[in-house]
Amino acid sequence: MKKIFSKTHLLVAGAVILVFTSVAYAEYKYSLLVNKNSDLEINLENTQKELAQIKDENSGLNTSLISEKDRNDTFQKQIGEISSTVGVLEKIKNTDKELLQKYSKVYFLNENYTPSKLTPIDSIYLFNKTKKFQIHERVWPHLEDMLQAGAKQDINIKIISAYRSFSDQSSLKSTYKTLYGSGANAFSADQGYSEHQLGTTIDLDRESTTGNLVTSFGTTKTFTWLTENAYKYGFVLSYPKENKFYQYEPWHWRFVGIELAKELHSEGKYFYEMDQREIFNYLANFFD
Ligand SMILES: [Zn+2]
Repeated sequence: MKKIFSKTHLLVAGAVILVFTSVAYAEYKYSLLVNKNSDLEINLENTQKELAQIKDENSGLNTSLISEKDRNDTFQKQIGEISSTVGVLEKIKNTDKELLQKYSKVYFLNENYTPSKLTPIDSIYLFNKTKKFQIHERVWPHLEDMLQAGAKQDINIKIISAYRSFSDQSSLKSTYKTLYGSGANAFSADQGYSEHQLGTTIDLDRESTTGNLVTSFGTTKTFTWLTENAYKYGFVLSYPKENKFYQYEPWHWRFVGIELAKELHSEGKYFYEMDQREIFNYLANFFD
């Protein structure tokens, strides 16, 4: 029998089959790899999505944390404001409104009024050391500060008069009336007296004086010192020159609290010029 296929043919055919088989196997392997790769890509994509979602959630949490903190801060602030308002209201409630009341020939302090607590004035500051004068207990520290500050600058202020009760004033006025007749009204009128009944008001003079309250006190260096410094201690001149309400009284100083006195000084105003409602805004810090 004649050989149809030579040995060479067989070898070639074998080689061809081997090549085909290898290629097919390689393709199969490649397709497996491609599949695996696309699986990995899908996984990666999913992971990225999850990560993005976690990020979103995280930033959402952060935002709510921040807003929660803000709310808390606001709440804290509100509590602070409320308690300070309560504090201010409490101070106003406990501060006698009369202490910042404007008096006039129409509005007058009740004859039964007495200050909450009076304290004696150290006699070294009195013009007449045999007399006894009292002042509102919580005004005294401010007055003493002022007198000491003056003394340090060789301004020795003397007190001629301080707290006067309704009956003190009545007898004083009848003495004046006996001496001066109806002319007494000109310098012992009721308006200025009300302020003395409060226990926050004093009549001042310089050291070497006769002790008579005279308008020439307004030309002394003691008076100049007072106009430049008294406000720092809460004292103001009730009736300055050419005021529209009452006669000029350079000796008559009233405690209105440091805050209000400073405000009046910086505005170049006097107490009786300011609106009563505006004045009452200073009641809370009256003794500070
Ligand atoms: Zn006076």
